[in-house]
Amino acid sequence: MRHFVPSRVYVEKGCESYKLGRTLIQKYTDMGIDIIDIDNHNKIPELRERPDADFSKLKDYLVLGIRKSLTHQKNNKTSDFLVPYTSSGCAAMCLYCYLVCTYYTSAYLRIFVNREEMMSKLKRAADKYPGSVFEIGSNSDLVLENTVSGNLEWTILQFSEVDNARLTLPTKFSMVDSLLNLPHGGNVTIRMSLNPQEIISHVEFGTSKLDDRIEALNKLYAAGYDTGILVAPIIMADGYRQMYERLFAKMADKLLPGIQSSVALELIFMTYGTVTQNINEQAFPNAWNLHDKETMAFCGRSRYGYKKDTKEQASEFFRDRIKHYMPEATIAYIV
Ligand code: SF4
Repeated sequence: MRHFVPSRVYVEKGCESYKLGRTLIQKYTDMGIDIIDIDNHNKIPELRERPDADFSKLKDYLVLGIRKSLTHQKNNKTSDFLVPYTSSGCAAMCLYCYLVCTYYTSAYLRIFVNREEMMSKLKRAADKYPGSVFEIGSNSDLVLENTVSGNLEWTILQFSEVDNARLTLPTKFSMVDSLLNLPHGGNVTIRMSLNPQEIISHVEFGTSKLDDRIEALNKLYAAGYDTGILVAPIIMADGYRQMYERLFAKMADKLLPGIQSSVALELIFMTYGTVTQNINEQAFPNAWNLHDKETMAFCGRSRYGYKKDTKEQASEFFRDRIKHYMPEATIAYIV
């Protein structure tokens, strides 16, 4: 997916009061795309009534809304705060997508047009909690969203004047060219999520190819961005050791030396929600079944995860192969 073009746009009342709202409404009107007025981006009855089998059709739609809750949540992983930011949901369709557990079939892309309010709150929080890292991409993929809204470019420019805090975001997309020449101030970390191409092809529908993600990461690094790499989510499908071995060999071959010597890899094993599984069975009946009864067990809140001993054995394999292919890289964590 290079640029997402929706087949239909739902617009919450009040969006036209915001500059970005007016710009997007005009853009899609000019393109002849159907615009449908709605009262509330959280309650679109005609979409809620659609069967699970329509999941991929719903992903073709775009919803414009106004984000009401701007509360930052404390976090203790790679950031200090999780920030509800300019979008939720996504136009891609990864079979394990964690957002589906939250939004169910309404995991389509929603863009919130009141970005100035979100940025003001971010800047106030940066002043209040100096040195903090704010995760702005936990509800969406901001590189993909940027192709619709330009919000990531806008964010990087707006935040470049902040010298006492950082932003971080993960992505599975390669459309970063518009970010490269921005005066970014060095306070944004873009973490590329990598997986073997076989997994991308069979599981991460609509996302960028592995080669393109690696190329994008190299470009970001060369443009002075702080970069990171997630090997995530690790999916222990048949032949996973060979697939991940090829991935690490490719990373060693293609990633710039500066990335390999400085990166702290985040390795995250997949967990799989029962809600997501139910939707996948209806929407993608011929796709890979990610639930393996032999190696997975319930890990709380309607999710399956790999069993402890399975994960431990696999973790050993990953540590060993990473050391072999990228001896200077470190592993930030494996979960
Ligand atoms: S790219 Fe991220 S947000 Fe989009 S479907 Fe995949 S996992 Fe979900």
